[in-house]
Amino acid sequence: MDTTIQAVQARVAEVLGPITHPRVGAGLALSEECGEVTKLILEREVYGQQVSEEAIAAELCDVVVCVAELANLYGVDLGAALALKLDDLAKRAPGWAESLGPSLAVARARMDG
Ligand SMILES: [Mg+2]
Repeated sequence: MDTTIQAVQARVAEVLGPITHPRVGAGLALSEECGEVTKLILEREVYGQQVSEEAIAAELCDVVVCVAELANLYGVDLGAALALKLDDLAKRAPGWAESLGPSLAVARARMDG
């Protein structure tokens, strides 16, 4: 399967078809799926429960599907938008690396081992 972001948008439109949310519903569905990712992270990282990478992957995919649905509903070409966003991040990241990099390295070592 073609997993380029444009192909994902097209496949989501095809699969959801008549069950596509209204725009506000798609936004709420995205929030719900983000909450499901958050719940798994909380269970694994804070409560020490067994949460598989597969379970996390499944919820992350739900988020991507919701993002694709929203993009379709608003006429956003995610491939083009992402290219612009990543170019912008590439310009800004070095400054963040300088200002936040050391503290984030400490936090990663402390929290992630
Ligand atoms: Mg889900």
